[in-house]
Amino acid sequence: MAVAKRTFDVVIVGAGGSGMRAALALSEAGLKVAVLSKVFPTRSHTVAAQGGIAASLGNISEDNWHWHMYDTVKGSDYLGDQDAIEFMCRAAPEVVYELEHFGMPFDRLDNGKIYQRPFGGHMQDYGKTPVQRACAAADRTGHALLHTLYQKNMQANTIFFVEWMALDLIRDEDGDVLGVVAMEIETSDLMIFQARATLFATGGAARIFQASTNAYINTGDGLGMAARAGIPLEDMEFFQFHPTGVYGAGVLISEGVRGEGGYLINKEGERFMSRYAVNAKDLASRDVVSRAIATEIREGRGCGKHGDHVLLKVDHIGDAVIRQRLPGIRDISMRFAHVDPAREPIPVVPTAHYMMGGIPTNYHGQVVAPYRTGPEEIVQGFYAVGECACVSVHGANRLGCNSLLDLLVFGREVARQIIEDLQRSPHPKSLPKGATELPLARLARLKSQKDGESVAEVGAEMRSVMQKHCGVFRFPDLLSAGMQKIRKVAERAGNTMIHDQSRVFNIACIEALELDNLIEVAQATMYSAAARKESRGGHARDDFPERDDDHWLKHTLYFSDGKKLDYKPVRLKPLTVESFPLRARIY
Ligand SMILES: Cc1cc2nc3c(=O)[nH]c(=O)nc-3n(C[C@H](O)[C@H](O)[C@H](O)COP(=O)(O)OP(=O)(O)OC[C@H]3O[C@@H](n4cnc5c(N)ncnc54)[C@H](O)[C@@H]3O)c2cc1C
Repeated sequence: MAVAKRTFDVVIVGAGGSGMRAALALSEAGLKVAVLSKVFPTRSHTVAAQGGIAASLGNISEDNWHWHMYDTVKGSDYLGDQDAIEFMCRAAPEVVYELEHFGMPFDRLDNGKIYQRPFGGHMQDYGKTPVQRACAAADRTGHALLHTLYQKNMQANTIFFVEWMALDLIRDEDGDVLGVVAMEIETSDLMIFQARATLFATGGAARIFQASTNAYINTGDGLGMAARAGIPLEDMEFFQFHPTGVYGAGVLISEGVRGEGGYLINKEGERFMSRYAVNAKDLASRDVVSRAIATEIREGRGCGKHGDHVLLKVDHIGDAVIRQRLPGIRDISMRFAHVDPAREPIPVVPTAHYMMGGIPTNYHGQVVAPYRTGPEEIVQGFYAVGECACVSVHGANRLGCNSLLDLLVFGREVARQIIEDLQRSPHPKSLPKGATELPLARLARLKSQKDGESVAEVGAEMRSVMQKHCGVFRFPDLLSAGMQKIRKVAERAGNTMIHDQSRVFNIACIEALELDNLIEVAQATMYSAAARKESRGGHARDDFPERDDDHWLKHTLYFSDGKKLDYKPVRLKPLTVESFPLRARIY
């Protein structure tokens, strides 16, 4: 089948904060930029971000970027690459002011400066006392950010392909990336998007778990496409469980609630975090708080009929502050938990939230993979940014508000890098033969499959296996059984059948294609987790409760082909300052 083709300087897959920040800089530089998105751009998951963007502006309490860097290295449980972390924390104030000048409606202090709130793991003076570092627009920071960037992109003439789903990468025999094959959801028409630079900004994949704060579209498509094209996935064992998802619903209650003074209690009404994090208490970093909650529940101090959640108490901060600073949270509590937070505590439970791992990149957003010349060879023409990328600034655990920051800093930086790279190689390479083979074969399989299981059934089984076998605490027997089970689920995913064969908005087909990507991510996560025999950040092994720097201070690389694992060293050396020495992590 002949597939139509369009050619651009840059094709970006994903219109969340990272894709749009990069698109803006590229379009402003006069390049022809296509941005593809499965949904209308301002519906990307970035729109759901609540709490804020971290930057050491020091508008309320004294702050500086080096403290921010220290907190990020410590938060990452020393697995973050310190060159990338320095780059990000130094650039933070600048990208936030840039955003302010784009028109971002931040909350303001009386003196007109940007309002900043405390957040988990944000500390003054190298971990001593909490600092107010999170720049916020009420509890709808992501919403404000995404709309601001979308409007700027309209002004810059970025070309959007709305409701287009990228299916697979085009890679030639040199390993270079030349674009993607994508499908228009409305018509099922395919198109080759050929480009001199292909940038993935496809967001996270916490939908591999049953209880997730993520949007339904967060199916790890970028990772699936990269894995199928032979690119490894880095540090996939590290998923973040947010301590406060609404019990039973999964919807997120921002850490900003604890930043504004809320705290957690168990069934005895005890403020239990003071037993787990003497200094930071409820504002310790997320992995610490999630494990504390899971432990309270396990030891019989959970709340409710089944003792399977805890409570987030907010009523003492008063109705007026709740309405002004946390209006979205008030709304979510009433709708999903049926409680008015000004009167009653909110039932919460740790919920899968963020993927620290992803497509390996350097801090310029260039994808790097082991190849002919070494473990970190640049894959020509291929870039990744945002949650789908592993830079790695978040290491084994991301600090709150460092993701929106990551989108802005590396979105801007990858654009600068692409502009530089395109000046060096002004001509597009020609497409390899068989550029469309893989996606056509995947679609043909779905069309011809006459009996088989439903996508929904296999998807549900995958989520249940991940939740049970690879959750907040990881047990050796559950992990090894989990590997067997997820392998079986993957086989079943290759035999799914869809009844709907129409071409108009065939959502059954889209979900089947998404399942292929989810399965890649789920397998990468389970295999990487089973192999890492230590506890670090978001990866807590029951049989290896300590961090083991002698053997495990290294990044995991998972190769889909053959399910092989490899490792590469952590970059402990920052760009200009001294490295932060390894220490036990205490909050
Ligand atoms: C509820 C919630 C609250 C959060 N709050 C905060 C916060 O306060 N502060 C903070 O720093 N972080 C927060 N985070 C994390 C942060 O919001 C995300 O990590 C970040 O927004 C991800 O941005 P992104 O640009 O990588 O991708 P996303 O915003 O997820 O966008 C992904 C884009 O890729 C597109 N896409 C995906 N696959 C395909 C495909 N196959 N073809 C075409 N398009 C595709 C989608 O349509 C979408 O446009 C929060 C996350 C959640 C879930």
